[in-house]
Amino acid sequence: MTRIADLLAKGTTWSFEFFPPKTPEGLVAFDAAVNDLSALEPSYVSVTYGALGATRDTTRDLVLRVNREQSFPAMPHLTCVGHTRAELVELLESYREGGIENILALAGDPPADGSDPGGDFTYATELIELVREVGDFSVGVAAFPELHPRSPDRETDRRLLAEKLALADFGMTQFFFDAEHYRRLVDELADLGSTTPVIPGVMPLVNVAGTRRMAAMNGSEIPTWLQERLDAVDGDPEATRRLGVEVATGLVADLLELGVPGVHLYALNRANSIEEIYAGLGLKR
Ligand code: FAD
Repeated sequence: MTRIADLLAKGTTWSFEFFPPKTPEGLVAFDAAVNDLSALEPSYVSVTYGALGATRDTTRDLVLRVNREQSFPAMPHLTCVGHTRAELVELLESYREGGIENILALAGDPPADGSDPGGDFTYATELIELVREVGDFSVGVAAFPELHPRSPDRETDRRLLAEKLALADFGMTQFFFDAEHYRRLVDELADLGSTTPVIPGVMPLVNVAGTRRMAAMNGSEIPTWLQERLDAVDGDPEATRRLGVEVATGLVADLLELGVPGVHLYALNRANSIEEIYAGLGLKR
């Protein structure tokens, strides 16, 4: 049983996210992290997809290989903006033939310079439809506890998200630093009658400037107390990583108290932070 919808129905899932490396050394680190983290017996892992298809082949090759070599399923992220229908059908067929059972269906971001990306798709809901046409995949979608940066207002964001979740099997969130954002998201979705499970995404930060940049891009608030702690560790990579572990461990503990359906940890192609979070929570596997 490797469909995430089925895994969620059986209990709390624990999953790790990786990204496609750009260099041979990066690939060695990716493989080492996947192998080390396999000892924690994740429910599944996921591999991100470069904006506008920048890592189309690498993501596919890694997902197919990890799915084949490991005892847990690997799920590709897939974005549709800038792609033609035929391109996506070809990719989805290769996933189906390769035994992939789960897809994270995303819109993706349009080009930063405002140019027209071309292609046949604008929104994630159109990709969900196509994914379901091509195969019997379990389909996940993105959710933004602090609203999607392109949403005009909270009410519209939540309404469209509830509509999207109704077509999907599960949601997975952008990272955030305060469990209250997740609790509010889930309450607002419940008020709209949404019952699709939404898995919180937790990022153990490893880099001060990178965290600030990503948070600004994604509309994730860095609370004042964390800004101050980031200032204190800036320039010290190991102290930054340890802060990331401490903050993520506290956040996961808060989320578990809320009764989340699963926990999705951004492994960032390294095993040590995840292993330390597990140790801090008293989890073995
Ligand atoms: P959508 O659900 O289409 O929403 C985008 C915006 O459009 C929202 O504001 C929504 O309210 C609005 N909208 C939706 N439908 C309509 C409609 N019918 N009319 C008007 N407005 C509408 N990006 C990558 O490039 N690669 C990745 O691997 C990747 N992985 C991600 C994983 C997670 C868990 C998350 C949360 C995000 C990820 N992203 C990734 C980022 C994501 O692709 C971008 O945030 C993108 O801008 C939005 O994708 P979406 O699927 O949420 O889009």
